[in-house]
Amino acid sequence: MIGGAAARVGPWSAAAVTIALSLAAAGVAGTGPGSAGLQGVGLKLLVMPVLWAVPGALIAAHGTAVGIVSPAGGVLAHRDTDLLPADEGRHAGPLLEALDSALSDVDIAPADLSMAVVGLPGPSDFTTGRTDRAARLRSGHLQRFRTWDGGSPVALLEHHLGCRVFAENDANLAALAEALMGAAVGLETVLHVSLRHGTGAGLVIHGRLHRGRHGLAGEIGHLHSDDDGALCQCGARGCFWQSQSLSSLLEQLSETHARNLTLRDVAAAADAEDQDVVRALRDFGHALGCRLADAAVYLSPDAITVDGGLGAAGGVIARGIHEGIGRYAPPTIAQATSVLVGACGESAALIGGVALAHSEGLFQVDRATWGSSS
Ligand SMILES: [Zn+2]
Repeated sequence: MIGGAAARVGPWSAAAVTIALSLAAAGVAGTGPGSAGLQGVGLKLLVMPVLWAVPGALIAAHGTAVGIVSPAGGVLAHRDTDLLPADEGRHAGPLLEALDSALSDVDIAPADLSMAVVGLPGPSDFTTGRTDRAARLRSGHLQRFRTWDGGSPVALLEHHLGCRVFAENDANLAALAEALMGAAVGLETVLHVSLRHGTGAGLVIHGRLHRGRHGLAGEIGHLHSDDDGALCQCGARGCFWQSQSLSSLLEQLSETHARNLTLRDVAAAADAEDQDVVRALRDFGHALGCRLADAAVYLSPDAITVDGGLGAAGGVIARGIHEGIGRYAPPTIAQATSVLVGACGESAALIGGVALAHSEGLFQVDRATWGSSS
């Protein structure tokens, strides 16, 4: 399939990429459904949407988002679906159907895709070469989430789409989106906190992800907080996220309100200034801020960005984080650390696929080199 894709799309030249990106920046190509019109005037190669799929399931077993994003970061399509449990890993059928539907929605053929980026839970194993790290993970939990139809998500997507596929941790993708295309554009050191699926984080320094030796750098959710805590899916015990996550907060609020509250309900309550909810969110943010104060000392970031897909709840949590950092970090560091609500909303990780492509020079990765490095 890979060779077939190359034959259909043709090799990318630096000139074509440059033209495409400049057109995109000018709002001409790949910024909306109108970009499809370029195909009609023989400029098919200039339309380079980037498709990106993330198993949002992660630890909390939530849904999965798939989308198509232009090189300039415009979200052309965004669909939520499920990655269903299977005997071995996850059954990818519904996700692939959602991908096909999303492509159909915007009248884009797989052959028109420049690449796909898949966000996966667990350590980043990003490489510009082909990879099948899922089978080598030592964590049984992570292997379950990172095995689709019995194999590698990367290989499966390459086969299905016939284009290059890159893998990255999904919180890292959201971090890149906010640092390069969102709330923290132009800032040097950015720590992003993702909250909708567990408590994840990504660290961007000088426009590049800092992944660390084993791909887990910056994951504040796995800071230790309780000696007697439960075993974590990462293999450690008493990790911070186990007691401080939005899912646990929703459980508590549901209990006190005697009805099941969703994140959307909580966001609406925050917007309506429901003082019970606002206080709970602010306390949650404060608890996050306590741990982020440690991170602020280690990193002295320009900004900490907070998941922008939380509606009005995001602003309340950000204020709590700001208070926590102000309470527990040295004033000099606390005052220099901005706490910003993410600007990329629920599509942050999708947009992060494009941000990854730009930051890692993926548009320039030679197809022959990529295909032979497995
Ligand atoms: Zn953990």
